[in-house]
Amino acid sequence: MSWEEMHKENRSCPCGQSTYTVRYFTNDWSGERSEWEMNCSECLLKYRLHEFTYFDSGLASQSFRWIKTEFYAKAHELRKESERIFRHVIDLTEKQYLATWVSFFRGKSKRAMWEILHKTFSYPSLSTFYMHTKNKAPEQFLKEYFTKDRIIQILGIIGIRDSQIEIDLKKANNLEIEAEELLKAKN
Ligand SMILES: [Zn+2]
Repeated sequence: MSWEEMHKENRSCPCGQSTYTVRYFTNDWSGERSEWEMNCSECLLKYRLHEFTYFDSGLASQSFRWIKTEFYAKAHELRKESERIFRHVIDLTEKQYLATWVSFFRGKSKRAMWEILHKTFSYPSLSTFYMHTKNKAPEQFLKEYFTKDRIIQILGIIGIRDSQIEIDLKKANNLEIEAEELLKAKN
């Protein structure tokens, strides 16, 4: 799969004294991508290129944005801290509640398990569920459910409220939001 440059354009850089170049590529699968390159030596020092994903009628696309170096650095620090807390919460939840979570489903049929998960997480279809659990021990499958977005509902299913976990998740979420705000900032 080779990429072919279709065209390029120069746009005014953030400080307005020079430009950055955008190159557009396409491949023979109708894939598209672009590359941004800073031509301004001032802006090269003052800005970092932030790559992000956005959704256009359900399709994921990549794009870029120039972000001030200090905002960019701060956002990455916040994200790192947020990920650290999420990992910590997941580890902790697994240690404390994975056994309860697994035993909650012990003795239940696959279909009963699907019904509970589907009700809470709008898990796809029963056939997808059967496919995903086909060659997997229930313990393994249930462990994979411990993700940052599901922890609160998982604890809800087994009837546990853990305020420390709730506080930590909220904190990590807020750091993530704060980082996103910095990476959205104009100028
Ligand atoms: Zn510039």
